[in-house]
Amino acid sequence: MDTWRKLTAKQQPSWPDAGELTRAAAELRSYPPLVFAGECDLLKERIAAVARGEAFILQGGDCAETFDAVTADAIRNKLKTLLQMAAVLTYAASVPVVKIGRIAGQYGKPRSKDTETRDGVTLPAYRGDSVNGFEFTPDARIPDPWRMVRMYHSSAATLNLVRAFTTGGYADLRQVHAWNQDFVASSPAGERYEVLAGEIERALRFMEACGTDPEELRSVEFFSSHEGLLLEYESALTRIDSRTREPYNTSAHFVWIGERTRDLDGAHVDYFSKIRNPIGIKLGPTTSPDAAISYLDKLDPHREPGRLTFVVRMGAGVVRDKLPALIEKVTSEGHQVAWICDPMHGNTFEAPSGHKTRRFDDVLDEVKGFFEVHRGLGSHPGGIHVELTGDDVTECVGGGDEIVFDDLGTRYESACDPRLNRSQSLDLAFLVAEMYRE
Ligand code: PEP
Ligand code: MN
Repeated sequence: MDTWRKLTAKQQPSWPDAGELTRAAAELRSYPPLVFAGECDLLKERIAAVARGEAFILQGGDCAETFDAVTADAIRNKLKTLLQMAAVLTYAASVPVVKIGRIAGQYGKPRSKDTETRDGVTLPAYRGDSVNGFEFTPDARIPDPWRMVRMYHSSAATLNLVRAFTTGGYADLRQVHAWNQDFVASSPAGERYEVLAGEIERALRFMEACGTDPEELRSVEFFSSHEGLLLEYESALTRIDSRTREPYNTSAHFVWIGERTRDLDGAHVDYFSKIRNPIGIKLGPTTSPDAAISYLDKLDPHREPGRLTFVVRMGAGVVRDKLPALIEKVTSEGHQVAWICDPMHGNTFEAPSGHKTRRFDDVLDEVKGFFEVHRGLGSHPGGIHVELTGDDVTECVGGGDEIVFDDLGTRYESACDPRLNRSQSLDLAFLVAEMYRE
């Protein structure tokens, strides 16, 4: 299980004290699992349906969760946004939606540069709350392995609230209007949603009048996910399932390998090849068709339905050129994987103000390109992976609220990449539902 330790692991912090690291990892090993292996298997079944073309994945949440944002309001707002998007997709596109939060564990960040310079001062880069502090001081930027222990507790608190919300009545489809209450008056997306919610409500009343009241509508299946970046953390939370005697990563239902750590012979690919969770791998524009097959061979040698999800993040400008060869090659192998589109990470640029941002139109165009390519090849556009928040931040430009460059400073709160705000997220869901129907 620990063979990854002999290989090159990219993007790992230089922990300053090996003894502290060992003690923090031992503490993590003593804790209970955050998710059960059986739940991971259920998600694998759901993703297998996506790979067969029968369902659609909605995966979303912050680029980087922070310890300070583990509050009831922030968690509820994110969940509410995802539930609203899922309602739009399920109803308007008539497709079962597999809901996966980028939540309860998304605390470690890969960086394109190891250092950050401000006003002539250079310090180690911020690597996420699980590693060091966001504050631009030498002390804050020293990696501290006990932050991984706090990551566990923050993930546990978040997941606990998510489970309470999703099974305790809040996610009941009869609440479809309530999720929108504070939103409806303030945004065109909110108003559009209100109309759809009215239709759903009428459909529910119709079903009730016919004497049917399905239990499925009272709660929602919701899964957790994060990038499996910090191998010390991921391996400390890896446990042998008592039913199957197989290893599972019990820190989340779904974990993925990032664009910067997907070396075929690297530590991440090796670690992921050993766990039995459903897993993802980000594929950027430099991925060759042969590499995609090598990932399949290493990560899914038994071609198990639902095991592997390719999360493509090409950029709006190249998705139409680069994606077809990958799909053709994988399809020619006779294997069905889930293909989902991350329309965020290939479309990031710096605004004149210095803020990292993305254009809503580029995000939309990449999803469009993704759908066009799949439609052209007869394969299934299996879902979207987006960075979003339930708060009214101003981090991406465009969308129904027409955020412009000058607005970015108003409410830019992301600790890493720019996220869609609530109304941009809903706009996207409506537009994706239209593409799906076409
Ligand atoms: C991310 O998902 O936040 C990320 C860093 O993506 P990628 O690995 O695709 O660059
Ligand atoms: Mn990101």
